[in-house]
Amino acid sequence: ASGTPVLQIRDMVIHYGRIEALHGISLTVDAGELVTLLGANGAGKSTTMRGISGLKQLTSGSIEFLGQDITRMPAAKRVIEGIVQVPEGRRVFPGMTVAENLDMGCYGRKFGSRAEQKTTVDYVYELFPRLAERRSQLGGTMSGGEQQMLAIGRALMARPKLLLLDEPSMGLAPMVIQQIFRIIATINEQGTTILLVEQNAQQALSRSDRGYVLETGTITREGPGKELLADDAVREAYLGVA
Ligand code: ATP
Repeated sequence: ASGTPVLQIRDMVIHYGRIEALHGISLTVDAGELVTLLGANGAGKSTTMRGISGLKQLTSGSIEFLGQDITRMPAAKRVIEGIVQVPEGRRVFPGMTVAENLDMGCYGRKFGSRAEQKTTVDYVYELFPRLAERRSQLGGTMSGGEQQMLAIGRALMARPKLLLLDEPSMGLAPMVIQQIFRIIATINEQGTTILLVEQNAQQALSRSDRGYVLETGTITREGPGKELLADDAVREAYLGVA
């Protein structure tokens, strides 16, 4: 429904023991948007993702997904509702083939039919021709970039209403990073709402509708992606230019 955000986080506080990792952050992702959460090492990006996916409980604050309060909803239920995460470090099943890895993405998700599942696999292979060529290759023998593609493809198999991407560029060569971001933009243009967590400001913000800057547990800036990219403080902190 227009007007209802896909994701609305209000004043989210998260602790690890006595350490307060998030000090009350608020952010919104609207339907069809690609939104980046930018932050340096230790800023709290992964903690934010864990809060959204339900792997970490909130101390206070709330999370709404498509108008429903999910603050206390178990993680597995959130996947079924349509919040699907591609974890940091890509974690594909190394001993399974590409095709088997993709099949695993359907696990836990209710599908209308085999036909619907086939349509989704075809969509993933169309997005990633490399995966189609290598459908019988073992996941563990794929290159870093190919494994990232496979991890994203597997998440798409669950037909996410909100796709969470945790640092997809980590550890990849510049050319591969460009390729991955182009595909992320395509997935978004084709209708998937995406929240992207990144340190790569240039690639992420230039392709995002909006962005947020997270610094040691607090959101310090927000705005359209290209505006943030032009911001002096952002350029200095994340692009090494004053
Ligand atoms: P990176 O890019 O390095 O992954 P990040 O922005 O994702 O960083 P988080 O991993 O969310 O940052 O960490 C935020 C803060 O919470 C850091 O100070 C970190 O040390 C702390 N933290 C994270 N996980 C734990 C944990 N399991 N126990 C205690 N403290 C933690």
